[in-house]
Amino acid sequence: MKNPVVRFAPSPTGYLHIGGARTALFNWLFARQNNGKFLLRIEDTDIERSKDEYVDQIKNALDWLGLDWNDEIVYQSQNNLKHQSVIEQLIKSGNAYKCFLTKTELDSLRDKAEKNKKIFRVPRTYRDFTEEQQKELISQGKSFTVRLKVPDGVTIFDDLVYGQIKVNNKDLDDFIIARSDGSPTYNFVVAVDDIEMKISHVIRGDDHIANTPKQILVYNSLNKNVPIFAHLPMILGSDKKRLSKRHAATNVQEYKDKGFTSDSILNYLSLLGWNPDSNEEIFSTEDLIKLFDFKQVQKKSAVFDEKKLLWISGQKMKEMTSKEIIKEIQLINNEWGKEHKNKFLEEVVSLIKERSKNLNDITEISRVFLHKEIDFFNEHKPMMAEQNNIQMLEDFINAVKIEDKWDKKMIEKVFDQIMNQHEVGLGKVMKPLRIAISGLSYGPGIFDMMVLLGKDLTIHRITSAINFYK
Ligand code: GLU
Repeated sequence: MKNPVVRFAPSPTGYLHIGGARTALFNWLFARQNNGKFLLRIEDTDIERSKDEYVDQIKNALDWLGLDWNDEIVYQSQNNLKHQSVIEQLIKSGNAYKCFLTKTELDSLRDKAEKNKKIFRVPRTYRDFTEEQQKELISQGKSFTVRLKVPDGVTIFDDLVYGQIKVNNKDLDDFIIARSDGSPTYNFVVAVDDIEMKISHVIRGDDHIANTPKQILVYNSLNKNVPIFAHLPMILGSDKKRLSKRHAATNVQEYKDKGFTSDSILNYLSLLGWNPDSNEEIFSTEDLIKLFDFKQVQKKSAVFDEKKLLWISGQKMKEMTSKEIIKEIQLINNEWGKEHKNKFLEEVVSLIKERSKNLNDITEISRVFLHKEIDFFNEHKPMMAEQNNIQMLEDFINAVKIEDKWDKKMIEKVFDQIMNQHEVGLGKVMKPLRIAISGLSYGPGIFDMMVLLGKDLTIHRITSAINFYK
């Protein structure tokens, strides 16, 4: 496939959702892989629910993810004149007609069909009315909708993911393309805009499969080539219900705030529905562009699993250099680490990153090294009050004070000393010392931490901890 033109068409009625971001990613990958165009169309025709704030948020989130779009953004609402003129054109060409059936009439027909256990079909009463007859009805003050003349037969398309899909046109009725207030309907404008934008591949969520035959009929009525469709599987939460806020954060921005890099989000999103045909799960964006293939996109719904995202993100932290991580952190918070030399920051990050799942983990633990004073927590009080814990801290200070050197070997030697003195195992010594130097019960290796903190700060911390916990 050479130079495809695809689009991401979000409705700005909310923030960019994980599902939307996955749709955008698959479009973008396909475009970038095939030297095509990735266009952005904001479907803002629902005036009540569309908000500028959401448009900005969607743009920012795509920007942050690095899913850059080509050309100017298309705003669906600005295509209104085009939509109107196509409706006129279809009426003129005899492919659409003014229908004067009222809502009351339709409702009563629907009720009747239901009572008789028959399938309701919209009657084609006004399909072949002459212009004279129509004028007459309009002069009587009757309002009308515009319906497409759906031909007999079937509509078939080959979906890149779902395979062949076939619909009997009878089931679609002569559907409405313009409401009685003149406003065009959703399936109509999507098709018209996709034609305008010369879209070659429509890649979107599978909730749009049912819309596709109607959109194809619009293409046909305008004598335009139908694009290729690819519908992406739904994303579910852990309970196999459609992913929602009950399951996890669904807004892309929240993941940025939680300290995930865009790279790890893209990697994780790529696996929601796509299967790389290998056991490999960690991909750079360049890898994804190379490997992505609709042949490996499955119909089966994908389950969103935040633990897997954390794992992927943790793998990425390991792979990234400390310099790269520092850059990412400072992009979010340009105050971070400001009062320290880069070399020291790099040492801090390389010590922490091995066990970190995301940037926030790193900034959280880095506080231990970047600030002289740290917080101690009441929750550790019972543990610190156990046996000789405070005594061990005091003994540790006294033992290191008389040493000239400050390195891992010396620190290990002092730990041995304390273990012998108190007749306890290494774990028993480490626990209170870890809390004393970091305020935390977890973190990188304690010897490495002490080396990096330096002798003075280590002693200062332990002294403060003794004062707090005594
Ligand atoms: N605006 C639609 C949505 O947000 C997308 C329509 C389409 O991709 O065709 O679900």
